[in-house]
Amino acid sequence: MLLTISTDYQPATDLGFLLHKHPDRFQTFNLSFGQAHVFYPETGAECCTACLLLDVDPVGMVRRRGREQSFLLGQYVNDRPYVASSFLSVAISQVFGTAMLGRCKDRPELAQTPIPLSARLEVLPVRAGEGFLHRLFEPLGYTVEARRHPLDERFPEWGESPYHSVTIRGTRTLSELLTHLYVLVPVFDNEKHYFVGEDEVEKLLAKGAGWLAQHPERDAIARRYLRHRSALYRQALARLVEEEQIEAAEDESTDRQPEDMLEKPLSLNEQRQGAVLAVLRAAGARRILDLGCGEGKLLQELLKEPQFERIVGMDVSMQALQRASRRLAYERLPPIQRERMELIHGSLIYRDSRVAGFDAAAVVEVVEHLDPPRLAAFERVLFEFARPGTVVLTTPNREYNVLWETLPADRFRHSDHRFEWTRAEFHDWADRIAARHGYSVRFLPVGPEEERFGPPTQMGVFALE
Ligand code: SAH
Repeated sequence: MLLTISTDYQPATDLGFLLHKHPDRFQTFNLSFGQAHVFYPETGAECCTACLLLDVDPVGMVRRRGREQSFLLGQYVNDRPYVASSFLSVAISQVFGTAMLGRCKDRPELAQTPIPLSARLEVLPVRAGEGFLHRLFEPLGYTVEARRHPLDERFPEWGESPYHSVTIRGTRTLSELLTHLYVLVPVFDNEKHYFVGEDEVEKLLAKGAGWLAQHPERDAIARRYLRHRSALYRQALARLVEEEQIEAAEDESTDRQPEDMLEKPLSLNEQRQGAVLAVLRAAGARRILDLGCGEGKLLQELLKEPQFERIVGMDVSMQALQRASRRLAYERLPPIQRERMELIHGSLIYRDSRVAGFDAAAVVEVVEHLDPPRLAAFERVLFEFARPGTVVLTTPNREYNVLWETLPADRFRHSDHRFEWTRAEFHDWADRIAARHGYSVRFLPVGPEEERFGPPTQMGVFALE
């Protein structure tokens, strides 16, 4: 089984950085079901191609399974070593796991940037027909090319096999491409080599975040990914529908909400936003930066208040900026509103003249996404070069995590968090920075404060002295 990934983004050899695999080396990884090899048949500056070759060990597979397998002949004659299946998903997550998470120390920006990519699968079993192949990949922005193989070239009368060589092409981030393959490849296959349990629902929802809820084939994807186990499928579907409804509701104007909505308890997100807005208002700030603005929820609120004359949202993720632009209906804003607001693509760890000259900056739930060695660069960019009068910064309070029933003890709240601070750790960091750059800092809780563990979110308000 062979997965080939190519790009003609230039310099194309950056693919090696993105995949965290050196183009000059042939590397082998031992996996539970065999071996995975990574190598580059082509490493030009104009085009670069990486291959992931899976060497599934059919004998080991039979031994490990023992008597479980009921179909005896299947032990000797099966397609497992040759087709793209859930084995490929496991290999992607183990061999290209960091790339799939969108992390790249050497090219952090590029990891978040959509680039022209193609992926070729040799071979994918497509029993539901070629149309299904198109219906799955095309809504995600790929073009699909498929060639069906005959069952046996020597006996054409036997007809066609379900096996296809498939190439998908699109301008996506590498992380998106790998995530789409991770979720969708097993959807085509009838078998799944590992047990489908509750955590599969979690995996599907986590990897499907941001795209699966809106996918027109969402139901079929969830059903097949969860191998037709109806209870799990219903659970996943209910949560996907919920996600879609939340997104749709967020897109609607808030002032049409019925009265009783106002009495509903506010979500932590809303409380955080309210707290940040209150600080910005109280500081009398007119020119505001929202650094790591994400999908633009705070920007949307800022736009409603005339006090804020100039509002700039910055994010390293193009996808987040596109969503923000959609949320704000930026293209349709009246010119006066549009002039107040700007979305810029940039990173908080590089000095950038566009972020100088503002009264205040909000940095809401962003620092925990930065690699700790980059914090020093972020600190200088914000407090030394941009130097706004006020900085409002929020971050999770790790102590509070024990109260989150669904969060395992050793996990962070989001898979992209590089760290989460206790209150003492956050205060230490903030005090040091304030002292170094001539700011004062005070700390405020956000969300319900718990006696021993404090609030779920911690906020620091820095003021230039
Ligand atoms: N402030 C938003 C989004 C928080 S999620 C909110 O509260 O809803 C964190 C955001 O930080 C993401 O959108 C991510 O793309 C962005 N981000 C991560 N690293 C960044 C960097 N180096 N520069 C700018 N933005 C970054």
